[in-house]
Amino acid sequence: MKVAICPGSFDPVTCGHVDIITRAAAMFDKVIVVVMVNSNKQPLFTQEERVELLKRATASLPNVEVDAYSGMLAEYAHQKQATAVVKGLRAVSDFEYEFQMALTNRKLNPQLETVFLTTNAEYLYLSSSLVKQMASLGGDIREFVPACIVNDILEKYGRNEET
Ligand code: ADP
Repeated sequence: MKVAICPGSFDPVTCGHVDIITRAAAMFDKVIVVVMVNSNKQPLFTQEERVELLKRATASLPNVEVDAYSGMLAEYAHQKQATAVVKGLRAVSDFEYEFQMALTNRKLNPQLETVFLTTNAEYLYLSSSLVKQMASLGGDIREFVPACIVNDILEKYGRNEET
């Protein structure tokens, strides 16, 4: 069985993430989406909340599981016998960091390949940070995140349910 991992902060999950996860699920037997801890970022949602939002957003994908992990990705992949890490690539700005991570992960776990999927053009500029910024300024985020999590984001900014 070919197992792939989709790691990230997912603070919160966006339509860009769901697009990458859906495409990965079509390529592998099983995909584990892992909420990692990124010490450089101060999250809006707790790790548990992010897992819960991802579970909801991927509920229609039967071969996708959601998990949380605080250690190193290469170690997690080894534990789960995963052979690939699937990442989405947006603009050039993602490239250098992702390249560095991919090389590091392969050094730590030589069996682990990193697969880059190019973002859907529609989501080229979409990021979790953009969604948070828009939500905090009263913008309409419905185009950018799965419908089932819109209210969870608005609530964090003290905004009422919108229809
Ligand atoms: P990180 O903290 O690693 O930046 P993110 O949660 O922002 O984590 O992103 C997780 C993964 O999803 C990364 O591989 C990132 O490149 C990818 N990704 C994020 N937004 C998009 C998008 N709009 N389109 C395609 N891939 C994306």
